[in-house]
Amino acid sequence: VKNSRAYFDYNASAPLRPEAREAMLAALDLTGNASSVHGEGRRLRQMIEDARECVAALVGAKASEVVFTGGATEANNWVLRGAFDTVITTEIEHESILAPASIAAGTLITIGAGSDGVVNVAEIAEAVLVDAPAPGRALVSVQMANNETGVVQPVADIADFARAHGLYMHTDATQVAGRMGIDFAALGLDYLSMSGHKIGGPKGVGALVIRDGLELPALMRGGGQERRRRAGTENVPAIAGFGAAARGALADLARVDEVRRLRDLLETGVREIAPDAVVVGAESDRICNTSCIALPGQPSSVVLIKLDLAGIAVGAGSACSSGKIGGSHVMQAMGLDAAVGEAAIRVSIGAGTTEAEVASFLAAWGEIYEGAVRRRAKGVAETAPAELR
Ligand code: PMP
Repeated sequence: VKNSRAYFDYNASAPLRPEAREAMLAALDLTGNASSVHGEGRRLRQMIEDARECVAALVGAKASEVVFTGGATEANNWVLRGAFDTVITTEIEHESILAPASIAAGTLITIGAGSDGVVNVAEIAEAVLVDAPAPGRALVSVQMANNETGVVQPVADIADFARAHGLYMHTDATQVAGRMGIDFAALGLDYLSMSGHKIGGPKGVGALVIRDGLELPALMRGGGQERRRRAGTENVPAIAGFGAAARGALADLARVDEVRRLRDLLETGVREIAPDAVVVGAESDRICNTSCIALPGQPSSVVLIKLDLAGIAVGAGSACSSGKIGGSHVMQAMGLDAAVGEAAIRVSIGAGTTEAEVASFLAAWGEIYEGAVRRRAKGVAETAPAELR
């Protein structure tokens, strides 16, 4: 395995930002409990509240609306368990939505997505107006952008519809924070999930943004932390790191065009080398950093290993679901050919990605493609490289 590595798996987890690391180290050295009223405690409390301001600013929310959690999985589970009589969601959500939705107490309505990767607002409207959910509280949960394809979803329109019909609206913005401006207030959202490690903060911390005035049954009961909503002594280093990362991610919004330029450079190169390559969702509005690429006939697991040996880290579908046979549930929901779903790799970059790294990706891609063409000509099946068999 090559020594110099290029990391193209930001959607699985972004590299830790130096400022997040510094904030965490500073917090690690502090003694005390943020709930204590002495100076030590107050200092930790201040760190938490500063981080809350930074996280709120990244998504256009008020600090009072941000509740720290142990990640986006926890935030998603929390909302989905929120005692709703009906939950309306989509087949392309992350597992941390789909799994709790499947055991939610009330009625579950799951709508699909088009082959362009976009959820259809009219289908949600139909589900609500025609299938007429049981009376009571209903929640619509639709991701802001997909983690595998990067396709942006019409959350503004869905939120408008939800508001007009008295439904609660949640969005999983995990892959969007720092990649597109988010305005929680202007979108009229009720709940929004995010994650620290996707924006260059530490893993195991995230937030659920809850619109001021809304009730949601407490996630953890016990002490009074997080205004009684999520009891337990706060993980101050993680929260401080998340806050610093949020500040960095907000600044990075100025560099979105540059990230998109590099992503497009990569895609253009990929298609020049392999005219039969498919870029999933390419015609749709996508976040700037994500490219879902399939070389039909080349299983993603094989391409991933070959790229890894060339020093390049990519994902196959969602990192959380890799290993699944027959491609990811997202590709299946889009109704893509199994040959595309099974071949899809996810290339995701960030503000730290360089043109030289894109060039190294394309060099490796070129070699993989040549090998595939050669084997195809000889009628040899695709297998993993010998050293990994
Ligand atoms: N939602 C989406 C869209 C994601 O991509 C992820 C991470 N793969 C999560 C939720 C879960 O986030 P966390 O790792 O913070 O639990």
